[in-house]
Amino acid sequence: MTNIAPKAPVTIPVSQSDSSAEIELDPAPDSETVEPIPGAPDLPEQPVPVPVETNTFPQQLEICGTMTISNRPGQLDELRNSNYAPLVEINGVSLAVAPVQAACFSSGFGPRGSSLHKGLDLHNSDPVDIYAAADGVVRRKQYRDDYGNMIVLDHGDGVFTRYAHLESFNAGLALDGTVKAGDQIGIMGNTASYRIPRHLHYEVLTGEWGALSGSFGLEPVDLIAQLPEN
Ligand SMILES: [Zn+2]
Repeated sequence: MTNIAPKAPVTIPVSQSDSSAEIELDPAPDSETVEPIPGAPDLPEQPVPVPVETNTFPQQLEICGTMTISNRPGQLDELRNSNYAPLVEINGVSLAVAPVQAACFSSGFGPRGSSLHKGLDLHNSDPVDIYAAADGVVRRKQYRDDYGNMIVLDHGDGVFTRYAHLESFNAGLALDGTVKAGDQIGIMGNTASYRIPRHLHYEVLTGEWGALSGSFGLEPVDLIAQLPEN
């Protein structure tokens, strides 16, 4: 039993220019969804190590069909027109664009209402895994009314990532502890002091960690804008 709700594998086109090639985005072995092969010997369930560079992060990012969160159309166009890549380099640090098991893009970086949406939103109705976007150190692991259960990772070279609204933190995740790219750090949720759909709010931040301001003195980066254009 895993804590992931059983669901059909998400099939997503590998690239917009090659509609014939498809990959399955749900590589997690799940005994409830695997048909037993008659006569086949029972194999022990072993997690297969997956190289971070190829398989851990979604290989394509679909825009959510039913938008549950307000979005900025310009940003969505940007994603449609971009050559999506699972990793983008910021200050020499290779970061996942979508550090999740599976999700669709539901809101982009930029002005939203009267404030700046400092990250991108990745939605799934299921409590999927959230991964570390790169190797790093856990700088924050706390609940806030605005961000809900929140993690901030420090990747060095003035690059940080924030993960918000998590349902829960990974049991082994320790403040000041290290994580590797692709490590599970939590579960996607909808925690905050207000009602929101389940999603990951994901920020990329650069600059110097302030003694007093912490992550709030850092400069948010529009990650989708770093993708090459078609
Ligand atoms: Zn958000």
